[in-house]
Amino acid sequence: MLEIIPLPVLTDNYIYVIHEPVSDETAVVDPALAQPVLDILNKKNWKLTYILNTHHHWDHVGGNLELKQKTACKIIAAESDRYRIPGIDIGVKEDDVISVGKQSARVISTPGHTSGHIVYHFAEDNTMFCGDTLFVMGCGRLFEGTAGQMWNSLQKLKALPASTRLYCTHEYTLTNGRFALGVEPDNIALQQRMIEIQRLRAENTPTVPSTIEQERATNPFFRADSLTVQKNLNMHNQPPAQVFAELRKRKDSF
Ligand code: ZN
Ligand code: FE
Repeated sequence: MLEIIPLPVLTDNYIYVIHEPVSDETAVVDPALAQPVLDILNKKNWKLTYILNTHHHWDHVGGNLELKQKTACKIIAAESDRYRIPGIDIGVKEDDVISVGKQSARVISTPGHTSGHIVYHFAEDNTMFCGDTLFVMGCGRLFEGTAGQMWNSLQKLKALPASTRLYCTHEYTLTNGRFALGVEPDNIALQQRMIEIQRLRAENTPTVPSTIEQERATNPFFRADSLTVQKNLNMHNQPPAQVFAELRKRKDSF
């Protein structure tokens, strides 16, 4: 099983340090900064093997070069983003498999937030690192993709096993939950979840990981195909991608 340490950095980013105890290998997902990662490696006496990047934005790759220089780790990222991922060594695409010690992850391509966005699904560990594609009760903005592309990307994640734990890169959960409640005020699972989220945030505890099951029940962007969401938006029987587009538009100005 992977040991996963979330490092809260910048305003609302998480860097994830993941350690596989059998092999003693360590990887870091989306290091916005190098120093907090170097500090934890030092404290734990772990040696960094890999950086896993989900996409090219600076708050996900900012620590790449310094970490590579100081630890001689290898950088894994989307081959299609080779030209804009600093220090990339191993380019990957959909269905490629990478390993951190005994645990392996399948790469899933999720265009929408950026064209080259990928997520890493560690099936045996039941864990997914989803960058800025899927957030707790939310999803990433569409910077380089269409609503249709993002809807398709989210469908792939929604189809993963219900118990899959998801680790996203931003703590946007409270705002996302408020938006979600505006879309589905009568969703009881959502109401209960917000109570729990408010409690966690009041004590500054991260709201990750969430699970695919929780997101299916409460994330409006997963639920663009639900009758309730469609009814509440006055969009009965519209194609889910169109409903998703409307949700994304409303969230952009929320
Ligand atoms: Zn981003
Ligand atoms: Fe980001």
